[in-house]
Amino acid sequence: MAKKHKITCLKTSDLLKIYHETNKSESKKASPHLEKLLVKRPMRSLSGIVNVSVLTKPYPCPGKCIFCPTQKNIPKSYLAKEPAVQRAILNKFNPYQQVWMRLLSLKETGHPIDKVELRIIGGTWSYYPKRYQEWFMAQCHKACNDFPLKRVPAQSTKLNFVKLQRQNEKAKCRLVGIAIETRPDYINSKEIKWMRSLGITKAELGVQSIDNKVLNLNQRGHGVKEIIEATHLLKDAGFKVSYQMMPGLYGSNVKKDLAVFKEIFTNPDFKPDYLKIYPLALVKNTKLYNLYQQGKFKPYSEKELTKLLVEIKKLIPHWVRVERVIRDIPSGDIVEGGSKILNLREVALAEMAKQGISCQCVRCREVKENYDAKEKLYLFKETYEASAGQEIFLSFENKSRTKLYALLRLRLPQSSVAAEIPLIFPALKEAAIIRELHTYGQMAQINNLKNHKGAQHKGLGKKLLQEAEKITKESSYKKTCAKQRRSTCAEQRRSIAVISAIGVRPYYRKLFFKLKDTYMVKNLK
Ligand SMILES: [Zn+2]
Repeated sequence: MAKKHKITCLKTSDLLKIYHETNKSESKKASPHLEKLLVKRPMRSLSGIVNVSVLTKPYPCPGKCIFCPTQKNIPKSYLAKEPAVQRAILNKFNPYQQVWMRLLSLKETGHPIDKVELRIIGGTWSYYPKRYQEWFMAQCHKACNDFPLKRVPAQSTKLNFVKLQRQNEKAKCRLVGIAIETRPDYINSKEIKWMRSLGITKAELGVQSIDNKVLNLNQRGHGVKEIIEATHLLKDAGFKVSYQMMPGLYGSNVKKDLAVFKEIFTNPDFKPDYLKIYPLALVKNTKLYNLYQQGKFKPYSEKELTKLLVEIKKLIPHWVRVERVIRDIPSGDIVEGGSKILNLREVALAEMAKQGISCQCVRCREVKENYDAKEKLYLFKETYEASAGQEIFLSFENKSRTKLYALLRLRLPQSSVAAEIPLIFPALKEAAIIRELHTYGQMAQINNLKNHKGAQHKGLGKKLLQEAEKITKESSYKKTCAKQRRSTCAEQRRSIAVISAIGVRPYYRKLFFKLKDTYMVKNLK
């Protein structure tokens, strides 16, 4: 008679724990391949950080865009079948529970969760009541601070947000970035001050197009002027700026769309750091659908869309990170056209490969699993004008620039033009601003640095900071103006400020930065 075996199913997280413990007790190293196998979808943490998307409660949107569907009980531009939306609905849009559930599932699938980038989606963030915004943010912080020990979402009690922020500096899950989505016409200096008090470090602007006629036809409710001003203010305050673009809008065509992309990468008024391409998806229950039925609008075909995406990709500069090329609408809801394709990005990349070209964007160059500790790295420096200032993009890459190990975005605002921001943040007066510092490779756990072999914490970040300091010092000058002999033309830079997320503050403190007006600031002597 065959013996009966009891089979126990272990969770991946348990297997990983056993793996790590075996590693500790034995002098010989266990196979790193095993670890790789155990971590599900390693891509999620390969860029060094895990993303946690949280949805805001359904709320009216100030926009009346003709392509936007109106469905009950969920935020306007997202439809019910999206995973993040489903998670939100399941948790009744409670931010604490959403964050907790996401952290739990990431942990259980073997991802390190000590560096968290929070992405708040669902509606025009700036349009929600301020009280809701603060409550929402406090709940997200509390979930990160509590995880994984005690799950106590605060109900109606008032939360001490500043205290929660301070606690996060030492929490297990530290917030290393917070992104929100908003409209360009909601950005002004007052709003920026508020956003900083909430710890926000990145703004995703719903730009869609930079053609006034197209914006009008689609009833976006703002023009190009608002896009330019918002971009400028956000950059001067150190924010990372992402543009959400929508090719295929009513009134546009492939040629016009391509011209739009060409312009956002070359005209200093735009030049976003990040890019999301959401090709227009024609869905029912929209004004655009009526136009389609009347024969006044036709969405791009699969062929047109793929071709356009490939042409756009060819234009991407080294300093742009293309975050997504997708539709956020399940293909079943889309009436017709190329945006029904499920894996647009892959289709475009495959087409590029056929043509023997590759995307130059940050995302496609990130080192990920190709990390090679012995590889010789080169420091690249790209300088470009953007929003009345100078942007310096520094990066450590391999010689052919196909593998990016670390990057830094330094901004030298032109003091005469950037007067508005130093008024609300005196710490930014005569300061150079670091808008981003990122090292790539499999995420290093803050508590487990000794065993880590990835790109992080190898001093690349520190080297980039030193270079940024050097550039800042060199950029400072003072000379007598020919016209006004008394005063001097000066571009004095006395300090360097970092838009640091709460969880990264301790890192900068060790490097002699001090917290001032929500920024980490170092005086340069
Ligand atoms: Zn790319």
